[in-house]
Amino acid sequence: MNFEYSNKSQELIKRLEDFMDQHVYPIEQEYTDAVHNGEDRWTTPAVMEELKRKAKSAGLWNLFLPKDYLPYGAGLSNLEYAPLCEIMGRSLWSAEIFNCSAPDTGNMEVLARYGSEEDKQKWLIPLLEGEIRSAFAMTEPAVASSDATNIETSIQRDGDEYVINGRKWYTSGAMNTNCKIMVVMGKTDPSAPKHQQQSQVLVPFDTPGVTVVRPLAAMGHYDEPIGHAEVLFENVRVPAANLLVGEGEGFAIAQGRLGPGRIHHCMRLIGCAQRALDMACERVESRVAFGKPLSKQQSIRERIAQMHCDIEQARLLTLKAADNMDKHGNKVSRNIIAAIKIVAPTMACKVIDQAIQMFGAGGTSQDYVLSATYAYARTIKLADGPDEVHMMQLGRNLIAEKNA
Ligand SMILES: Cc1cc2nc3c(=O)[nH]c(=O)nc-3n(C[C@H](O)[C@H](O)[C@H](O)COP(=O)(O)OP(=O)(O)OC[C@H]3O[C@@H](n4cnc5c(N)ncnc54)[C@H](O)[C@@H]3O)c2cc1C
Repeated sequence: MNFEYSNKSQELIKRLEDFMDQHVYPIEQEYTDAVHNGEDRWTTPAVMEELKRKAKSAGLWNLFLPKDYLPYGAGLSNLEYAPLCEIMGRSLWSAEIFNCSAPDTGNMEVLARYGSEEDKQKWLIPLLEGEIRSAFAMTEPAVASSDATNIETSIQRDGDEYVINGRKWYTSGAMNTNCKIMVVMGKTDPSAPKHQQQSQVLVPFDTPGVTVVRPLAAMGHYDEPIGHAEVLFENVRVPAANLLVGEGEGFAIAQGRLGPGRIHHCMRLIGCAQRALDMACERVESRVAFGKPLSKQQSIRERIAQMHCDIEQARLLTLKAADNMDKHGNKVSRNIIAAIKIVAPTMACKVIDQAIQMFGAGGTSQDYVLSATYAYARTIKLADGPDEVHMMQLGRNLIAEKNA
């Protein structure tokens, strides 16, 4: 393993950091206020389009799509992308500026890998251009969705169409007024073997029978303008050609999409945690209590040291996972992807929690990014699979490998 960043990465890191310093951090609060106080909280503020144009012309666009997908994407390896994704993670809404935000990234990867030529023209190209947004609808309120074989939404063939009925929730992105396409997971054959019952189908957002029931909060945050929606599908009809790959392939497609999605969350969380540590270091130097700066207290120094160690451990494991994915593919890397998905959200929660403590009441306020960042980190212990499921699978695989 060689974790020296390539020349290409180093050059992009510099360009990205400059971009963040110049265009993102100075308007971070203004952007958040515009979303919360705007006329329509589900419409992305106009400044986003301006930032996207700047990012595109700075060559900071679609960096997430690995080189296997060329000519689509920037052609980076996962290892090259890791530090860039970390930098984007420092600000909760900045990944969209570079067209690197979930769930679009996962959906673009699915379309690039499994979409027909028509799907690519209709949905992938506009997504790659950042013209539209998308959502992935798997989780359902009625069943324990951490076990995806429980999913109940039905996708029934009827002549040249599929008819979809079901209720989804926590469909991220589906509140946004520019969300045009959903990838929906459901069952085409409930009598088939357990892992061949599910399929994935493309559902244009404006199809009759699709109803957004309500936005759902995540730890009290509605994550505007993207949002997490409850979505009802009532006799929704789409052309049979909208089914991805074929009937019974839904589970396999979901596994393929979640590997990269999971590591991207981890990379962003490392950026969140590093920013919290950077903020804490500045705060404890300037804040005076009991006659001296907080930074002179031994317990503060110890906690700062521990935060650094925790971040660095998670960062190295993430880089190792990215390196493994580049060398051996996503499937072979499933254990290390599970490991980092267990480690990174817990690490980020712990580090951000410490930073909030050092900021006092202000740490919980809207004036600093810490509390919203904590909420994001906490939800990632659930999203893309709860910690316990990754532990169950990693433990099972390790035991099986030892006893093979
Ligand atoms: C902010 C946010 C965004 C999300 N975005 C999306 C999205 O865009 N699309 C989408 O489809 N879903 C999304 N989700 C949903 C997420 O993927 C699910 O919440 C997750 O898969 C768990 O499913 P569940 O909520 O039904 O929990 P359940 O399946 O009901 O599980 C509840 C709890 O049981 C425990 N548990 C489960 N299995 C085991 C086990 N084997 N051993 C021990 N304990 C266990 C875990 O603690 C788990 O949290 C999002 C969730 C959040 C919070």
